[in-house]
Amino acid sequence: MSLVKADLHMHSCLSPCAGLDMTPSAMVERARDLGLGLMALTDHNSAENVAALRQAAGRLGPGAPVVLAGLEVTTAEEAHLLALFEDLRAALTMQAMVYSHLQPGVNDPEVFGYQIIANADDEVEEFNPRLLIGATDLPVNNLVRRIHGLGGLAVACHVDRPAYSLVGQLGMIPPDLALDAVELSWLAGPATAGQYLGGLNLPVVSSSDAHGLDDMGRAWTEYEIEAPTLAELGLALAGQEGRGIVAIQRRGA
Ligand SMILES: [Zn+2]
Ligand SMILES: [Zn+2]
Repeated sequence: MSLVKADLHMHSCLSPCAGLDMTPSAMVERARDLGLGLMALTDHNSAENVAALRQAAGRLGPGAPVVLAGLEVTTAEEAHLLALFEDLRAALTMQAMVYSHLQPGVNDPEVFGYQIIANADDEVEEFNPRLLIGATDLPVNNLVRRIHGLGGLAVACHVDRPAYSLVGQLGMIPPDLALDAVELSWLAGPATAGQYLGGLNLPVVSSSDAHGLDDMGRAWTEYEIEAPTLAELGLALAGQEGRGIVAIQRRGA
């Protein structure tokens, strides 16, 4: 068993609101320098830069972070939900489903920002034209079911924030959701978790939700796991087989 530092929520230059410094090789290098054993790329409603990040991580050699394939999906309730996968094909299946349920429209980069599909050399391959900043028409319970059906983990995002969170949009975390974890933003101290959980017994994690390189490392979670894999992460969140969450950490705290 070893202690693995993980940041499961961050955005590349594909997310319209992210900085253009969030390129594949820059992100994995920064993650390595921060000592992250596990990172997840979770762009808004898309996983189109995951392959490039994985390729860039593969070139780093020893100390490279393992990159999970994720998306930050906007539910019909306008709440953000992380969908985390080991298998890129599962993430791309989720992406195709999300695209077919995404609010129609074309991204205006002057208004929302550029949506760059990059390669592992940090070159622009193309621009994603979809309205990635928009919401899907998929209710959160439906999405959680679909994520689990594809072998993924579902995490309710930044539940301490009034905007785009389950607590902000619905006033509570619905008790019947089979969430794998809830996430506190980098702004919230771990001691505040209880006020958002409404008495629910759910594992609590924290992540950077980085939109720029300087944001990376502002929050992370440490796990006691056998290896940096999604299966081990699932065991740790469930507190099974000796795996577990060790601590939520914040920069400077
Ligand atoms: Zn979010
Ligand atoms: Zn985010």
